[in-house]
Amino acid sequence: MRRIGSNLRPAEQKPQRNLRNIIRYSDDEKPRNDYPKRIISPTLPKKCCSDRNRELVGNIREIDGFKFCYKICQKCGHAVRYFYPAVKTNDNTVREYRAFKRYLTQ
Ligand SMILES: [Zn+2]
Repeated sequence: MRRIGSNLRPAEQKPQRNLRNIIRYSDDEKPRNDYPKRIISPTLPKKCCSDRNRELVGNIREIDGFKFCYKICQKCGHAVRYFYPAVKTNDNTVREYRAFKRYLTQ
């Protein structure tokens, strides 16, 4: 049984727990997109794996406030799970943090 809201606390402690990763990293198998069942990806990204070549696969999912999607490089098939950085409730915090970082790097 699934109780909505009851899993917020554990998710904060262990954000990866409920996120089943469908990407299988292997250099022995050919890259393959069997989304949403499985994505077979080379173990390491290459130079081609830029944002321009990476294409969003499937829908953006959300689990416990974390939004993520899968992205696959169109050239070599390297796949990543991409997490969106901001959740609405802490937008301000994120913005402030980024401004702070920018200040540090200048
Ligand atoms: Zn690539």
